[in-house]
Amino acid sequence: MGQNFARRKRNKTLKLDEYQTVSAEDEEAEEEKEERKEDIVEKCNKKLKAICGLADLRNGAVGLYNIGLNCCLNSLLQVFFMNRYFTMILRRIKVPFDVDEQKASVPYQMLLLLEQMQQSKQKSVHPMSLAQCLSRHNVKLFVLYDAAELFLILWNLIKDQITSPDLAESLTHQYTIRLKEHLTCQGCSCETKKDSNLLMLPLHLFDFDSRAFKKLEDALHYFFESEQMTEESTFRCKQCNQKVPRLRGMKVTYLPQMLTLHLKRFHSSERHRTRKINNPLSFPQSLDFSQILTPEQYCPDIQEKDDGVYDLFAVVAHAGSADFGHYCAYVWSLTEHKWYCFNDSSVCQVFWDDIKCTYGRASLRWGETAYLLVYMKKNCKEL
Ligand SMILES: [Zn+2]
Repeated sequence: MGQNFARRKRNKTLKLDEYQTVSAEDEEAEEEKEERKEDIVEKCNKKLKAICGLADLRNGAVGLYNIGLNCCLNSLLQVFFMNRYFTMILRRIKVPFDVDEQKASVPYQMLLLLEQMQQSKQKSVHPMSLAQCLSRHNVKLFVLYDAAELFLILWNLIKDQITSPDLAESLTHQYTIRLKEHLTCQGCSCETKKDSNLLMLPLHLFDFDSRAFKKLEDALHYFFESEQMTEESTFRCKQCNQKVPRLRGMKVTYLPQMLTLHLKRFHSSERHRTRKINNPLSFPQSLDFSQILTPEQYCPDIQEKDDGVYDLFAVVAHAGSADFGHYCAYVWSLTEHKWYCFNDSSVCQVFWDDIKCTYGRASLRWGETAYLLVYMKKNCKEL
């Protein structure tokens, strides 16, 4: 079974070259009759669909069965699979030769699951093989994960197991935020800079004085605001030899195609008990970083037109308490231009008003709240 799949996958990978050949044929066909030309264009489109990732082009959407507290994994998988730029990378991976390697390869098992979803005549499929594969890498079954934590684990497993350096680089480019951290001595103004790469921006829901933010834009603004590093009471500046806390500021140097924002709704108190913050935080369908941040905070290395303009692509929402709860994902279909709600095996079309219900409400202890927000760059290009 595994071997047969492997052969099929290799053929699929080769289709990229075939597509290029078809483009050349298309040029030659210009002199031929109009009908013949249309045939070729149609054929070409079909091949393009095969390459671009069908998850996004299928009619309707396919659910994933809950095989034991894996609603978090299911939600993240749907967000990955509905992103054709991600599935384009997945379709180009090298299939591991050995059956055992195939079973252990997270990207390969994801590719198989994607295929299964596309070919399925059922409303949902079982993500069993992928779950077993993940358990080989210490992602336990029957454990309710935190979606932010699982996203990091999953993404790193995919990246580390993609053998092609080019594809791994594309994946990094697609998801990684690059920031420059500035630490300024308040005694002599000397500055140290540090680059950091992040998969998600962790956003607090309260400011320094414990005032709750109302809008996502305010939480983003706060993340980039300069702050005094209070924990550094023992820091002594090498330049001026003074013992003063430094000021820390953040600058954006690169914003990826898929921008993931982590709303820090789980808060550990002094007694080490984690509680969930249900406070409302609204988020827009479109974000423009050049409007939210100051020119000092938003300074991408390469400035392109509309570089910081994003559209909301997905919301991973959590319902329940910190100890126990349930995840589902709202994802925008890039081809059907509508929102879907993926709740394990149940999938339905939803509207913006339904998604707005995930803003949160302090009085609702079991209410559904947005936890991860995934924005997609408006001007994103073909990879
Ligand atoms: Zn100094």
